[in-house]
Amino acid sequence: MSECLFCRIAAREIPSREVFSDERIYAFEDINPQAPVHVLVIPRKHVSRVSELAEEDALLAGEVLRRAAAIARERGLTDFRVVANDGAGAGQSVFHLHFHVLGGRPFSWPPG
Ligand code: 5GP
Ligand code: ZN
Repeated sequence: MSECLFCRIAAREIPSREVFSDERIYAFEDINPQAPVHVLVIPRKHVSRVSELAEEDALLAGEVLRRAAAIARERGLTDFRVVANDGAGAGQSVFHLHFHVLGGRPFSWPPG
């Protein structure tokens, strides 16, 4: 059994509120939403962070991002934010690559 929280969520060993699922991608509601829409989009393949994406993952990474945009569109968002924190110092707390899709409220820049 994987030790990784998001591998376990994608495998449905740990429950989550599913938003999208196919052979390569899983998306689910963030347990602690920071905006009216806060969905996490992950590859089923365990990649720890953006900076660990390999050349062979290029297609998968693009697919995950396109899925993030599709989910935002399905939620009726025209403006939204896609965030990937890379490393603890940047706010990453779960070391399985995930893209936050955030929307439904105004955002400021730069982020905190
Ligand atoms: P990070 O801080 O790594 O960029 O984002 C991790 C995200 O995962 C956080 O927004 C946090 O709320 C979310 N999260 C952590 N544990 C769980 C969980 O067990 N279930 C769900 N649905 N989200 C989680
Ligand atoms: Zn994992």
